[in-house]
Amino acid sequence: MEAGAPLGSEASVAASIPQAAGSSRGKGVRPALVTSSGPLAAGEKVLLVDPKRRRYLLELRVGAQFHTHAGIVAHDDVIGAEDGSTVVGSTGRRFMVTRPTLSDVVLKMPRGAQVIYPKDLGAILMAADLGPGQRVLEAGVGSGALSLAMLRIGVEVVGYEIRSDFAARARQNVASWLGSEVSYRVEERDVYEGIDERGLDRIVLDLPEPHRVLGHAEGALRSGGILLAYLPTVNQVASLRAALEDSRFGFAETFEVLHRTWHVEERSVRPDHRMVAHTGFLTTARLLS
Ligand code: SAH
Repeated sequence: MEAGAPLGSEASVAASIPQAAGSSRGKGVRPALVTSSGPLAAGEKVLLVDPKRRRYLLELRVGAQFHTHAGIVAHDDVIGAEDGSTVVGSTGRRFMVTRPTLSDVVLKMPRGAQVIYPKDLGAILMAADLGPGQRVLEAGVGSGALSLAMLRIGVEVVGYEIRSDFAARARQNVASWLGSEVSYRVEERDVYEGIDERGLDRIVLDLPEPHRVLGHAEGALRSGGILLAYLPTVNQVASLRAALEDSRFGFAETFEVLHRTWHVEERSVRPDHRMVAHTGFLTTARLLS
């Protein structure tokens, strides 16, 4: 028996999903963010949505029950169902069950540091022109949300993270959601002190003073490579842009992503009243020879 709180509660997610790689994964079950098709299997992580659209993440276990405000769902009713099915809970109410998306996972996975939001993760993949087989240095790694987004499209990631607890959390999140087939190495170190890698395709930075990395980045990136920095305040952006002016980087650009969802009902189609109004600014530049 396990207690269910809506997806908004991190504690419930942490409690319902063992994080160790392969923890209770059934034989042949693929990690949640690796494309799977066919019926939902024991060991898979699924998203359960109740009639009030409250969302829960759970790992399917034979014989287990999931308790929610809208009633109890037997895992055995979900195991064997198709992705996108409806199952009926103990109170007769209907739940939708589906495999989680990367956005679902990023917003609700256990985290140490603040994660980069899905709207910005999508923009980063394009702005840094990330693709399969590229060698990318990421610093700091935090909870590994950006790592997940890059690894899932086939990027080879080396991460520098100054805090050992965050490094461990990121490794655990990646192992839990993508398995061990991805190319991911996190080193516990300060990127302001230097970068050992050479000939990198991209460097992506999510830390307070990216201008302190530019000198090291000039030696570590290949010519034409792209540096991207995510920064929460415009003061930090100004410092970075000033430092870029005095560097071998060119084509500097800064932008932000505004994502406004809409309320859509027959008689009322309008923007939602609330939105995430600010997250961070993205700055990119290319290394010139
Ligand atoms: N992008 C991450 C979140 C990163 S939060 C995600 O999406 O999950 C910023 C991280 O930078 C923190 O974990 C912090 O410990 C790390 N950090 C700060 N300064 C650093 C430095 N000089 N070298 C390496 N990591 C650093």
